[in-house]
Amino acid sequence: MTGDAIRNVMSIDVEDWFCVYNLSQHIRFEDWDKQDSRVEQSTLRLLDMFSRHRVSGTFFVLGWVADRFPDLVREIDRRGHEIATHGYAHRLLTHMTADEFRTDLLRSLEVIERSSSQRIRGHRAPSFSVTRKTPWAAGIMREAGLTYDSSVFPVGFHPDYGIGDAPLTPYWLTDGLREVPMSCAEVGSSRVPCSGGGYFRQYPYALTRWLMRRCNAAGRPVIFYLHPWEVDPDQPRIEALGWSKKFRHYRNLAETENRMERMLEDFRFGTVAQLLEAEKP
Ligand SMILES: [Zn+2]
Repeated sequence: MTGDAIRNVMSIDVEDWFCVYNLSQHIRFEDWDKQDSRVEQSTLRLLDMFSRHRVSGTFFVLGWVADRFPDLVREIDRRGHEIATHGYAHRLLTHMTADEFRTDLLRSLEVIERSSSQRIRGHRAPSFSVTRKTPWAAGIMREAGLTYDSSVFPVGFHPDYGIGDAPLTPYWLTDGLREVPMSCAEVGSSRVPCSGGGYFRQYPYALTRWLMRRCNAAGRPVIFYLHPWEVDPDQPRIEALGWSKKFRHYRNLAETENRMERMLEDFRFGTVAQLLEAEKP
């Protein structure tokens, strides 16, 4: 890694292992309180890794997590990371009305800001659910005082999310609200996701590195994301999950931490706020 390398974005969606949309048919929101929470220990592992590598990132905290673990929000804040919101109850925007989204978003901001010294500027939707079906989302985020969203996946192949012709670089979603889309490398005429999460766990690391370098060579920083449960191979397993969800959810959990260490050696990272600040003329 050289000193003048492009600074990518490190982002963490802070949620517990049972908050995931793939598990929502098996563990309902009403039952979250009864589960064995692991979000503090796995987020601390990520925080320690970032401290070792002197990396700061943006933590999109779920309001429900901030409600139960205010000390975790304070610790993220104390270590100098940016704090943003991942909504309150991890409901997909595509499953809510505009009013329901407003209520969920405001509730998350209230609870997260109670434990943070920062004013929250950014939002990430669960499962990248800012799509063409949620045209009201941008206005509501703006009303709530946010200045950016980082939820659009600029791909057209996924059944549940994506805007296939969205720009690959930050753009205005509406007046005063910047969209910082997830990253894809352009390979031939295809857009290949290289933003982290499940893609990071499924691909061999060499492929991730090649795709990220391709983005950087085109002058584009990669917006990388991960969840704390992705560095927690000992989380409880839901046996009733179908094979495809099991594959997507549990594969290579034990590899993630080592891969992250390698990636942090190979690339530079910072926060979304730093990326947007650097954009200014
Ligand atoms: Zn999430």
